[in-house]
Amino acid sequence: MHQLTIAEIIRGLRDKQFSSVEITRHLLDRIQQLDGNYNSFITVTEELAMTQAAAADERLSKGEAPALCGVPIAHKDIFCTSGVRTSCGSKMLDNFVPPYDATVVENFNAASAVTLGKTNMDEFAMGSSNETSFYGPVRNPWNTDCVPGGSSGGSAAAVAAQLAPGTTATDTGGSIRQPAALTNTTGLKPTYGRVSRWGMIAFASSLDQAGPIARNAEDAAYLLSAMVGHDPKDSTSLNRPVQDYTLNLNDSIAGLKIGVPKEYFGEGLNADTAARVQDALKEFEKLGAELVEVSLPHTDLAVPAYYVIAPAEASANLSRFDGVRYGYRCEDPQDLRDLYMRSRGEGFGDEVQRRILVGTYALSAGYYDAYYNKAQQVRRLIKQDFVQAFEKVDVIMGPTSPSPAFALGAKKADPVAMYLEDIYTIATNLAGLPGMSLPCGLVNNLPVGLQIIGNYLDEARMLNVAHQYQQVTDWHQQFASSASPA
Ligand code: GLN
Repeated sequence: MHQLTIAEIIRGLRDKQFSSVEITRHLLDRIQQLDGNYNSFITVTEELAMTQAAAADERLSKGEAPALCGVPIAHKDIFCTSGVRTSCGSKMLDNFVPPYDATVVENFNAASAVTLGKTNMDEFAMGSSNETSFYGPVRNPWNTDCVPGGSSGGSAAAVAAQLAPGTTATDTGGSIRQPAALTNTTGLKPTYGRVSRWGMIAFASSLDQAGPIARNAEDAAYLLSAMVGHDPKDSTSLNRPVQDYTLNLNDSIAGLKIGVPKEYFGEGLNADTAARVQDALKEFEKLGAELVEVSLPHTDLAVPAYYVIAPAEASANLSRFDGVRYGYRCEDPQDLRDLYMRSRGEGFGDEVQRRILVGTYALSAGYYDAYYNKAQQVRRLIKQDFVQAFEKVDVIMGPTSPSPAFALGAKKADPVAMYLEDIYTIATNLAGLPGMSLPCGLVNNLPVGLQIIGNYLDEARMLNVAHQYQQVTDWHQQFASSASPA
C-alpha cells in the first residue's frame, strides 16, 4: 500500500479497496520498521493519525468528502501543530507544544487529511544537507551514507522511502527543490505569498514559502490545491482565490517556450548532472516545446545577496527566542543578561549562531548601507533578469542543484561549499517566483533533479508541464532500493 500515489489513494478510498485506517496503520508500521535507517521523522503522531483516519473514514462513508480526505501525509516540523511538539529542528524548541495550528496544517485538517507526524529538518531551516538538526542528520534513502539535501530533508526522505505519499515543506533559498532533487521526489515552491506563512516558524520572512513534496506532479498538484489561498492572518498573503491545480495537468504543451539560461550550465555544474538535464530538455522538444536561450546575467550575485538578506531577517526573527517566554531556558541563570546569553548560546546550534552574527552585523549602524541596502539593490536586478526573460518564454528550465547527493560530513566544515548547493534555486526566492524540481535521471544510482521556474502565479502551468514530462518518462517511478521492503 505504501507504493500508492496520492491520486491512487484517493481512488482506492472511494472505491473502498481499503480504508484510511488501514493505510494509515500500514504507514505507521512502516515508519516504525524503517525510519531508524533514515531519521526522517522527529515525531510520529500515532494516536492523532488513527483518530483522524477513523474520522476520515466516517466522512468518506457519507460521500462528498474533499479530495484529500483520509490521505496520510506528514508535516515539516516548522509548521505549528496544536498539541504536538514543534521543534523546528532545534534544541531551543525541543519542549515547545503550540496551542494552535499553522494555516497550512489547518487547511489539511479541514480537508480531513491524516497527519502521520512531523518531519526532520535543518535547525530553523538553515542548511542544505539536514545535518544541522538537533535530532541528528537525515539519511538519503538512495544511499544512506549520503545526505538527502536540506532543509526539508526529512520531508523529502520520507516520500522517497515511501513512508508517506506526500509531505509539506518550506523553501527560503531552495529547501523544497534541492532535497527533492537529491531524493528523486517532486517538490514545488509556490509564488511568494501564495501560501500562508501563519504558524510557520519564520526564518527569512521575505523569502519563506511553503509547498509540497510528493512522488509526482499530479500528487503535488493535489497537495498544493489544499495549501493555497488568502489568509488575513498573514499580511503578505496574496488575495487570490483557492485553485484546483489538478484540472489542466493533461493540457498539451506543444508550442511551449522553454527558456534555458546559459548561466545555469557553466562552471561548477557536474557534467553528468548537466547531461541528464539536457536529456530532459530533449524530451520536452519531442513533446512540441521550443528551447530558447535566455540570459540571467546577475546569477552569480544571488548567493552573496541571499547570505546578507536571509541572515539579516533571521537575526530579527530569532530574537524572540530569549529563554523567557517559551522554549529552552538555561539552568540557574545568575541574572537577566546571563539568562539571555546562556539560553541562546546553549539553545541554538552553530549554524544558527553564525547566521545571527552575520545578520546582526549586516544590519548594524555603519554597515547597513554597505551590506543590507546593497543586497536589496542586487535583489532588484535579479528580479529584473527574470522579468526580461519571461517576456520571451513561458517557463525556464535548468538543473536544480549542481551535483547529486554528497556524503554525510563532506561539506559540513565548509559553509561556503554548502551555500553553493543553492546556486540555481536562491534567485527565485529573491525574485518571489515559483520553482519546482522533478526527477530527470540517475548518476551512479543517485537522483538528478530538473528545475522548472515559472512566472508569477503560474504554478498550474508548471505542474502541467511537469506532468506531461512524467507521462513520457519514468524517472519519478524509480525507487531507492533501501526502501523496497514490503
Ligand atoms: N540552504 C539555504 C540556507 O541554508 C536555504 C534554506 C532554505 O531554503 N530554508 O539558508
